[in-house]
Amino acid sequence: MLASLGRNGPVTTRKQGPKVRDSTSGDRETNDRWRKHNPIPAAIHQTTERAPRDCGERTTAAQNIEEGTVMNTTIGMIGLGLMGTAMARRLAEAGWAVTGFNRHPREIENIPVAASLADLADRAETLWMMVSDYTACREVIDRLGEAGIRDHVVINSSTIAPSESAEIARRVEALGGEYLEAPVLGSIPQAQSGTLQLLLGGPEALIERLDPLLRALGTPTHFGAVRSGAAAKLAFNQLIGSLTAAFSMSLGLVQREGVDVDRFMETLRDSALYAPTFDKKLGNMLDHSFDKANFPLKHLLKDIRLFTRSAAGQDIDTHLLIGLQHVLEEGIYAGHGNHDYSSLYENIVRHGTTH
Ligand code: NAP
Repeated sequence: MLASLGRNGPVTTRKQGPKVRDSTSGDRETNDRWRKHNPIPAAIHQTTERAPRDCGERTTAAQNIEEGTVMNTTIGMIGLGLMGTAMARRLAEAGWAVTGFNRHPREIENIPVAASLADLADRAETLWMMVSDYTACREVIDRLGEAGIRDHVVINSSTIAPSESAEIARRVEALGGEYLEAPVLGSIPQAQSGTLQLLLGGPEALIERLDPLLRALGTPTHFGAVRSGAAAKLAFNQLIGSLTAAFSMSLGLVQREGVDVDRFMETLRDSALYAPTFDKKLGNMLDHSFDKANFPLKHLLKDIRLFTRSAAGQDIDTHLLIGLQHVLEEGIYAGHGNHDYSSLYENIVRHGTTH
C-alpha cells in the first residue's frame, strides 16, 4: 500500500500501478509485478475461462471480495450517460470496484459516485471515460490535470476521431498517465451482458495488463497504435448510418408501391444483400417507434461528421455522406436527436406525401 498526499488531504490506501509504455522485456517485468499486486477478480477468470488464481476450486468474485484478495484495481467511470451507466454496472457486477462520476450529478444504484473529478482520481487508479465527444474528453482531462492523471491509466471509450484520440493520448502522457483508446461496438444490451466489442489502440503491454478488466465488458481486439481503434470505430459507425439509410429508402419504396413487406424481407434475407441490422430496425420503422434509444441519432450525426472529416483527410471521397448528414440534421431539427438513430427513416420516407 502506498501513502500519498491527495488534494483533499492524505490518501493512504491507493495502490499505484507502475507505468508501462511498450512491450519490451522491462515492461513484461513491470506487468508481472503489476499483476502480482492486482489479482484478477474470479468473475473475470470465469468469463475468460482462465485457470483460477489458486489452481484449486473456482472461486466467485463475491468470495474473493470477502477474503479481501481482489479489487486492488479501482475503476473510475467518467460519464454516466446511457453507455457509461451500463458499463459501470457491468464492471461492478463482474466484481470490480467501480466509482462513478458525472458532470451533472447523477446517482446509480449500488455504485458510489464521486463528488468531483479530483475525488474520483483519489479513489480510482483506472479512469474510464465514456463521454459525448472530443470537447468533453478534453474538458475532463484538463480538469483532472496532472494531480488527477499522474500514475493513472486512462481508458477512453468515447467515440472520437483518430486525430482527436491522438491528441488526448499526448495530453494524458504529458501529464504522467497512460492512455488506452477503447471505443466500443455494441450498445446498452451488449454492455449489460458483457458482449461489447472493444476496438483497442495502444501499447500491447498495457492491453495485456488490462486484459481481464477489458474482458469483463466483452471481446477486446487490438488494432494497433493509438488512432487505429478510433479509425475502426468510425468505419463501423459509417456502416451503421449508411446501411440504415439504404434500408430506409428501399423499405420506403416497397411500402409506397404497395409491395408486401413480409415477402420483400423474406427475399432479402435469402440474398447476399441482407444485413441483420435490417431486421433489428424493421419493427421501429414500421411502427414509427423510436423513443427507446440505445444509440441516439445525435451521436450518429457526430460520428458521420467525424468519419467525413477523417476520410476526407485520407483522400477518400465522402460525397455520398453529404446526403446522410443532411437527413440526420433534419432529424435533429424534427426533434429526433435523442431518439434511436433508426428514426432517420422518418426523414427519408416522409409523411404527408403519398401515404
Ligand atoms: P449520453 O447518454 O449522451 O452521455 C454522454 C455523457 O457525456 C454524459 O455523462 C454527459 O454528462 C457527458 N458529458 C458531455 N459533455 C461533457 C463535458 N463537457 N464534460 C464532462 N462530461 C460531459 O451518451 P452515450 O450514449 O452514453 O455515449 C457516450 C459516448 O459513447 C459517445 O461518444 C457515443 O458516440 C459513444 N457510443 C455510444 C453508444 C450507444 O449505443 N449509446 C455505443 C457506442 C459508443 P452530463 O450528463 O453532465 O451531460
